Amino acid sequence: MSYTILRDVCLVEGASQEGIRKGCDLWLRGGSIEAITDSRARLPLRGEGEEIPCSGLYCLPGLIDMHTHVTSPGEERIEESDDFRRLLAEHGRQALGAGVTTLRDLGGWPEVLLRLRAGAARSPFFPNLVVAGPFLTAPGGHPTIGLFHGLSALRRAATRELSEPEQARAVVDQLAASGVDFIKVVSTACLIVPQEEAQVPKLRPEIFAAIVAAAHAHGLKVVAHTMTAADVREAVRVGCDGIEHGIVCDAVEAACEPELLDQLRERQICYVPTLAAIEQLAPRFLEQAMQNARRLAEQGVLIGVGSDAGNPGVPFGAGLLRECELLFAAGIPPAQIIAGATSCAAEQLGRGGQLGRLSPGYQADLVLLRANPLEHPGHLRQIEAVFKAGCCVAARPASVFRRQHPSASFQESVS
Ligand SMILES: [Zn+2]
Repeated sequence: MSYTILRDVCLVEGASQEGIRKGCDLWLRGGSIEAITDSRARLPLRGEGEEIPCSGLYCLPGLIDMHTHVTSPGEERIEESDDFRRLLAEHGRQALGAGVTTLRDLGGWPEVLLRLRAGAARSPFFPNLVVAGPFLTAPGGHPTIGLFHGLSALRRAATRELSEPEQARAVVDQLAASGVDFIKVVSTACLIVPQEEAQVPKLRPEIFAAIVAAAHAHGLKVVAHTMTAADVREAVRVGCDGIEHGIVCDAVEAACEPELLDQLRERQICYVPTLAAIEQLAPRFLEQAMQNARRLAEQGVLIGVGSDAGNPGVPFGAGLLRECELLFAAGIPPAQIIAGATSCAAEQLGRGGQLGRLSPGYQADLVLLRANPLEHPGHLRQIEAVFKAGCCVAARPASVFRRQHPSASFQESVS
């Protein structure tokens, strides 16, 4: 196995607080970071490999998008469609091109996602995937109407409409057996998409509680799609481990009740505001959602970085870069945002030992930037190159980095 050595690079630590480490040589081999040495020592490469001069470049761990829908907008007859395979490939390419090397999928076609996850594990062709499987929701609840309206096969594959606790337990047992990483629940009656401002059926509390109990019995975390302060209170009360979208429809005061804050902090519940999606789908709520995220961050609540890519107007990859900028505009410090999209995210996903940090033994998922992202998260757009599992999967034209084409094996991997 040959080495790739990135010479004299400036490391941006996923753990954030330490800031940056200048003058490092990063030794990559077999898809992992093998060593980090002082570039002044200039340890020679013996045997096969390549050395890439990286003076002036910043290197951070590949970004992790905590909220995406890889199989959206899917279509009917998913398994038979070349268009659908092209759509999946495009999502992967867009993500990798923007430095996003891991996606958490929070609602989609479980069979397709689990197959993609297996193919992407330590392979450069697609971002690492962490999969929740289908949306668990009320009969007729979000997203069965709205997003999936008229798409009966998609609705069947990507949602489970639950009306009894017993049924909920059986569904969670089945999903756990299939190998999902998370459980995703939709528990709100509030639809914010402007063209369908409506109330939708909401999951009954006893079913929600049954889902969480069953998931925890399998060692699976549960994250909840919420919209209001009441939704968040309920999700926390029944024992959810993560909050998606959070408090969007209510004023900031409703977000900051002391008992709720204590619970969020003490249980390290990750709050993922998905501002990039709010900006596209319901811009009139954006200001409020930003304020809520800032207030919670100031109170010590863990803020996750997720774009909700797969929704209209929220592209893979670029959607996460926009999310970082919106979190910064909301008043959250860059170091906290970078950690939220790297080391903290990996820990939330149970992958804190393999992903999200620049350390020996970690998977070599890297973003090389021409500017320091700790000065401004907008610098995340100044991409020189992206590595997934030690392979260069994207590079700026005229860069010293050469892209090794990752998508050749894609067709076989998804079919
Ligand atoms: Zn979503």
